Amino acid sequence: MTSPRLETRDLVRRFDGKAVVDHVSLSILPGNVTCLLGPSGCGKSTTLRMIAGVEQQDAGEIYVDGRLVCDTVTRVPPEKRSVGLMFQDFALFPHLSVADNVAFGLKGPKAARRKRAGELLERVGLSHHFDGYPHQLSGGEQQRVALARAIAPKPKVMLMDEPFSGLDNRLRDGIRDDTLDLLKEEGTGVLLVTHEPEEAMRMADEIALMRDGRIVQLGAPYNIYNSPADKAAVAFFSDVN
Ligand code: ADP
Ligand code: MG
Repeated sequence: MTSPRLETRDLVRRFDGKAVVDHVSLSILPGNVTCLLGPSGCGKSTTLRMIAGVEQQDAGEIYVDGRLVCDTVTRVPPEKRSVGLMFQDFALFPHLSVADNVAFGLKGPKAARRKRAGELLERVGLSHHFDGYPHQLSGGEQQRVALARAIAPKPKVMLMDEPFSGLDNRLRDGIRDDTLDLLKEEGTGVLLVTHEPEEAMRMADEIALMRDGRIVQLGAPYNIYNSPADKAAVAFFSDVN
């Protein structure tokens, strides 16, 4: 049986005694995208940060590809979790060339690292900028380089916190689709955080609807859209058409 790329069991995070993440359990299969969808302040980023290992959990377990990376005893450091990260303002290194940005997290001989960088830049349509520098690229192009960089070390899981929010609509659709195609090709499990129902409907294999720290509904996008769990879920989806 294939193990999930990512599994969380009953993750909890409390601030000042209040659970801002309250028993969150998720499971993501290879090549699948789960959207963690909910209003601002419901605990999405905190969940993501615990999985990344940059925020400590108070209870629960996290598994990557079947391996326990965190519980109250075990604590694998972020860089050893096989987890990639993309954020809206996840900047490129300005002093490194585009190729060196992509190769940054890779190990091994320089020639092999540059080869992998070249393949990924070709895949995102930016081969011609191999020796260029970030400031010579548009915002959308920089986002594509950030994607290539995040995926270069072949993480089992990609964690994305509203990475497309800063892009204008015209660019956004193309980058979103290319990003998902690439991650699916690589068999990565994707957890995408968003507060926009439209984005989740478009990108998710499964939506985890979150409110006040809890997953209130979990399912395929159209099941959730057609049968929202309660009035609050109806209201939240009302701006999608
Ligand atoms: P979202 O990403 O869904 O907008 P967050 O996970 O950023 O939500 O935040 C969830 C809640 O936890 C918010 O009420 C936020 O104010 C609170 N919170 C997040 N980080 C901290 C912190 N370091 N200390 C205290 N409260 C925090
Ligand atoms: Mg957030």
